[in-house]
Amino acid sequence: MSSSTRLIFVVFDSADQYWLKHWAKAGDLPNFKRLGDASLHGEIENRPGVFTIATWFSLATGVEPTRHGFYSFSQYDPGTYRLTNIEAEKLHYQTLWQALDEQGKKCAVIDFPRMPLLKLQHGLQVIDWYPHDLSANGLASDPENVAIEIQKRYGSDPFEGHCDRFRLKSADDFKEFITIVEKRIQCKVEFAESLWRSSRFDTLTVGFGDAHCAGHQCWHLQHADHLRHDKILAHAVPDPIKQVYRALDTALGRLLDLADENTKIVVLANPGMEANYHSKIQAAELLERINESLPHGDHAVNTMSSQPMPELARKKSLSVPVGDTYFAIRANVIDRERYGILRMGMELDAYLQEITQEIMALHREDGLCVFDDVIRTSDTYHVDHQHNLPDLMFKSRRDLPSRVITSPLVGSATSNFTPHRSGDHNPLGAYWVYPAPNGVLKSDTVRDLDIGVTLCALFDTDIEDCDGNVIDQWLV
Ligand SMILES: [Zn+2]
Ligand SMILES: [Zn+2]
Repeated sequence: MSSSTRLIFVVFDSADQYWLKHWAKAGDLPNFKRLGDASLHGEIENRPGVFTIATWFSLATGVEPTRHGFYSFSQYDPGTYRLTNIEAEKLHYQTLWQALDEQGKKCAVIDFPRMPLLKLQHGLQVIDWYPHDLSANGLASDPENVAIEIQKRYGSDPFEGHCDRFRLKSADDFKEFITIVEKRIQCKVEFAESLWRSSRFDTLTVGFGDAHCAGHQCWHLQHADHLRHDKILAHAVPDPIKQVYRALDTALGRLLDLADENTKIVVLANPGMEANYHSKIQAAELLERINESLPHGDHAVNTMSSQPMPELARKKSLSVPVGDTYFAIRANVIDRERYGILRMGMELDAYLQEITQEIMALHREDGLCVFDDVIRTSDTYHVDHQHNLPDLMFKSRRDLPSRVITSPLVGSATSNFTPHRSGDHNPLGAYWVYPAPNGVLKSDTVRDLDIGVTLCALFDTDIEDCDGNVIDQWLV
């Protein structure tokens, strides 16, 4: 790449690629159409099972989730059997912006999902301005005066990083929500434009959390086939997701217009969204009962410690959070967990195999399986640091909810729980590289892990100690 190369990197957090492309084709999103017609584009394969959180760290660092260790907003600690919220500032791997900064490149980074403040020498960074999930404690920047200026000009996030807290119900609630989201998008793109025009940045990264918020809150209003769809409400608030995507489309158009012949634009819509149906509460209850029926781990529990043993430490395995798409299990393994009861090796293998069979055999009231896929960490990820992730992750079949689920071994469990979030993530994302290198439009699926590394390679720079590979097709 020439020394005059510049990059605008736009991240539409959890904007669903299927609907973006569908509405672009229908003429509702002219700038996504313009982007699709002139970009190398394809799908993103996210890190299996743990993609909702891990993908952002893997994308930025090129490092596998087993190594960076972030897989859920709240993670299980094998020392205490407790859940603790992740702290993004504990990210110990170099990000693409730090690698570029070391080479003297000037990077502006605004609201890349989950990123802590990275202390760039030459550039600037803003976090937690209008995010879906907070990286830290609210709007902050390096240098500090940027956040002060933003606060003065635009104000901070009306949702304070928790769009769930409004518990939207009435048409007025949803209308106000959409108005706020549209305003956030407009403010952010205006600020991004002003940055790019006011100073010569080599890279500008802008993350939009708005499709993420709208997807969780409004999926049932957008889609008439959703079980929580309310016709009267949908009539009063038509196409809420499309409205938000339209605002993002306008922002995209303004960012595309910033590019000159030396500027590459890379756009991600990642991960995807779909209806949020799952039976994790029933599955967790049945897991306990299945554990009691399986033979493993019956030898003496480690009682050497003088500390009182947590109740959870007596279990063969626990269900641990990884988001709503997957149901995750962590086995209680000797020398890996504080009070492990399953022996590493043959006993653990046999247990994982049997529990996989039993969980995959869970079925719904309509007779279909509750889960349609399973990821076993030891088969999927590199052997180093596998202990940082859950052992098994079962993918929920998302076409319908089921109140009652049944295990052939231990009977049924029932829950009337309906998630407040009507939409939730699926692992499919999409990317666009604009303009298309050599005019080639269609490309292979790429891994999230390879994207940050490739963006660095646009500037002939590497990220230190990473697992990702350069996507050659993006560089031509
Ligand atoms: Zn989410
Ligand atoms: Zn949100």
